[in-house]
Amino acid sequence: MSAKIYYDTDADLGLLSGKTIVFLGFGNQGAAQAQNLRDSGIPNDKILIANREDAYAEDAKSKGFTVEHDFAKAASVADVLFLLIPDQVQQRVYNGQVAPTLKANATIVVASGYNVFYQLLEFKPTQDVVMVAPRMIGSSVRSLYEKGKGFPCFVSVEQDGTGSGLATALALSKAIGATKAGAIASSVREETAMDLFAEQALWPHIIMLFREAFSVLKEAGCSDEALCYEMWMSKEPAEIFERAAEEGFIKQLKHHSSVSQFGQLSGALALDGKDAREHFKNILYNQVLNGKFCKEFSKIEADLEKEGAENPLNELYRKSEESELGQAEKRVRQRLAGLL
Ligand code: NDP
Repeated sequence: MSAKIYYDTDADLGLLSGKTIVFLGFGNQGAAQAQNLRDSGIPNDKILIANREDAYAEDAKSKGFTVEHDFAKAASVADVLFLLIPDQVQQRVYNGQVAPTLKANATIVVASGYNVFYQLLEFKPTQDVVMVAPRMIGSSVRSLYEKGKGFPCFVSVEQDGTGSGLATALALSKAIGATKAGAIASSVREETAMDLFAEQALWPHIIMLFREAFSVLKEAGCSDEALCYEMWMSKEPAEIFERAAEEGFIKQLKHHSSVSQFGQLSGALALDGKDAREHFKNILYNQVLNGKFCKEFSKIEADLEKEGAENPLNELYRKSEESELGQAEKRVRQRLAGLL
């Protein structure tokens, strides 16, 4: 199944002419996207940054933007509203302070599918809801734009209240520099499924595999120092993934010795992956796509602001660091710090 890819030639910046574009949030993505959009020719007086009165607001002012601290006031003038605050606060902030004053024909832009897919945000049926989701951190969104390059990005129209949602989404994608390298047609379902699947199925397996491999090799007499460097501190895994992105997931193996290539390819083919596949399907269908995780996460969300053991995330860190891998790395890093 191949996806449609949109390029600069598919988008018309003229559609944004005269529109007031509000960025709610001037953090990682907000700062990058607002600057790119302005550098693409959207007049500064048509861009408004909505942010609480703090360092982010100061940063926006220092970059020459007009800043509004009253979100309801900012929303009332928005033809386009980029919702670029953290996913976990969007429901509360958007529904409480933005939605009531937002124009009936406004375009709401999200950079992640989560809140739209799980229907946590309240939209009017006449509004456009689009996703323009860079697959990069904000600093790269900005630096690649400055170098005249594009960046990978997903684009979708989730609600076409005005009938021109796609044209607007593409114009906005072009303005932030996302159609230069090609913006991939996607959906909030696809984006959320892949994002949460990676976080809840793939990476937990990778963490578990490293943890167990560490313990087995330690038991066989390998030192903490040798293991930490062999397994990740040398940055070899980072290099492998970099080459996988540039040359090919399998092809990058050609940079390894014949012994390594033989071991990796024959070893991977010998594992049928049946148990992993069943586990992955269970996570995808019974935890991610059915909304179970979202419901459970919303129950503990407020606790993430707490200090110490009352914060469930702190407890997860504490338990994870109790592993042999966690304890050994702590010792190795303390020793290395002592050498500096
Ligand atoms: P950040 O954590 O960088 O957002 C910080 C901004 O949000 C600041 O302007 C901050 O202002 C504001 N903010 C934080 N909490 C609140 C609050 N309670 N009320 C009002 N404003 C608040 O977010 P990101 O840029 O990382 O993420 C924005 C969106 O982009 C998300 O949907 C995310 O999933 C998506 N995305 C992020 C990527 C990334 O690399 N980080 C990549 C692709 C998409 P202040 O604290 O002053 O209020």
